[in-house]
Amino acid sequence: MNELRRKIINSKEREITKKYVLYWMQQSQRIHFNHALNEAIQYGNDKNLPIVIFFGLTPHYPEANERHYTFMLEGLKEVSRISAHFKITFVLKIGHPVEEIKPLLNDAEALFMDMGYLKIQKEMRQEVLKYIFDQENDLHVEMIDTDLMVPVEVASQKVEYGAYTIRPKIRKLIENFRDFFHLHVVKNQTLLNIKSDHDLDDIKQLVTQLSIDHTVKKSPIYHGGYIEGMKLFHDFVSEKINRYPESNDPSLNLTSKLSMYLHFGQISSLELYERLYQLTLQHQITGEAFDGFVEQLIIRRELAHNYVYYQKGYDKFETMTEPWAYQTMEMHHEDLRNYLYSIEDYINFQTHDPYFNAAMKEMVLTGYMHNYMRMYWAKKIIEWSNTHKEAFEIITYLNNRYFIDGRDANSFTGIAWCFGKHDRPWQERPIFGKLRYMNQAGLLRKFNMEPYVKRMNLFTK
Ligand SMILES: Cc1cc2nc3c(=O)[nH]c(=O)nc-3n(C[C@H](O)[C@H](O)[C@H](O)COP(=O)(O)OP(=O)(O)OC[C@H]3O[C@@H](n4cnc5c(N)ncnc54)[C@H](O)[C@@H]3O)c2cc1C
Repeated sequence: MNELRRKIINSKEREITKKYVLYWMQQSQRIHFNHALNEAIQYGNDKNLPIVIFFGLTPHYPEANERHYTFMLEGLKEVSRISAHFKITFVLKIGHPVEEIKPLLNDAEALFMDMGYLKIQKEMRQEVLKYIFDQENDLHVEMIDTDLMVPVEVASQKVEYGAYTIRPKIRKLIENFRDFFHLHVVKNQTLLNIKSDHDLDDIKQLVTQLSIDHTVKKSPIYHGGYIEGMKLFHDFVSEKINRYPESNDPSLNLTSKLSMYLHFGQISSLELYERLYQLTLQHQITGEAFDGFVEQLIIRRELAHNYVYYQKGYDKFETMTEPWAYQTMEMHHEDLRNYLYSIEDYINFQTHDPYFNAAMKEMVLTGYMHNYMRMYWAKKIIEWSNTHKEAFEIITYLNNRYFIDGRDANSFTGIAWCFGKHDRPWQERPIFGKLRYMNQAGLLRKFNMEPYVKRMNLFTK
């Protein structure tokens, strides 16, 4: 592993007195290509200690509902099975992770954490560290950035202006971070007798017992876990990737649908990169397709992580975008809105725009939406809301409630982009001012939308 992924928070060089090495799995919910887990194994092997993976299942994660929990638990069920295969103890506790991890720290020689990029994730890690220091627990502690190709703090130390500023920085560093070679074999294969709160055999039963929002049901199409994600990846590679340059067209259905797996850390972007790189060398993938996909998977995704990591208040209307964007929105604050819709209208597919309604069907009924339609969808809500702030709040609410990949760095960045972040001023227009405008005529000029509408109608049948 490239050492720049590692942050040593507490270094311990003394006699071993504890029972295991603990990996707190939070962002990176996978075994494959997980540097944090691999470093925990390496540390355990050096000290001849067994490995424990801990996962704290927050019963009230903000904005998460049955759809998100089901997808996540499907992935964790697989993690638990694979852990047993590799002789690693997997412990699932239901409760706030910061509280649930505390008893496990007493017997841990070392704690390894993956990196979280959102405010809530950073806060959780800080609380655990504070507890450790308050307790004067001198266990060895490391945090490893394993969900990005180039670690967020290595790529840049500030909020980047846009893809054009972060791209050269990441491109220069990519080769240095192709740094996962194999999962270490666990030397001390003792399985510890630490009881989980649930064995994950019956996910439906577990989800039913959680006091979460049960009105948004699990996706009938997308199922969580590394294996499901890899199936989609193989379909994408065998049937779609060489046409990726055309993937902006929602009717062609040429995107990978991997965002939800990346969101829960069920697959690693580095693994996808490595697999695609090899296929490109074997001439199975064109250079154009590879570059186009890497632009999204690495550059755009890591720009989004840079934004949430460094921009304070990325989730608030008042602090998420640029001064020019606020100025122009202020000037158009009172412009007449020709249409005003409620959230109920949106989720019942009741607007006058068939393409918007089709996009809403994709979102509400499947938990996903095509990237171009996400842009169009959010721009329409700006046009049809009383104020820009109200639009921001509606977009964020719907995005995080219905998308399986919602509440991601990409969610906040994609939404902020619709309000000018990482974009530039355009020609002045009503309501939008200098924010980029998108309309139905533009959509129809670019694409034949009927196959998309038809495909989405199938979900209502
Ligand atoms: C208003 C709005 C809201 C969005 N909300 C979310 C969200 O909640 N969660 C989410 O993951 N993405 C969000 N995006 C970004 C993007 O639309 C999705 O990542 C993409 O559509 C996922 O589909 P895919 O995996 O099939 O993409 P593919 O085209 O197959 O791309 C592969 C991967 O590249 C990354 N990627 C693709 N497009 C973008 C992009 N524009 N910005 C950053 N990374 C990108 C994703 O990780 C994606 O999985 C949003 C964009 C907008 C404009």
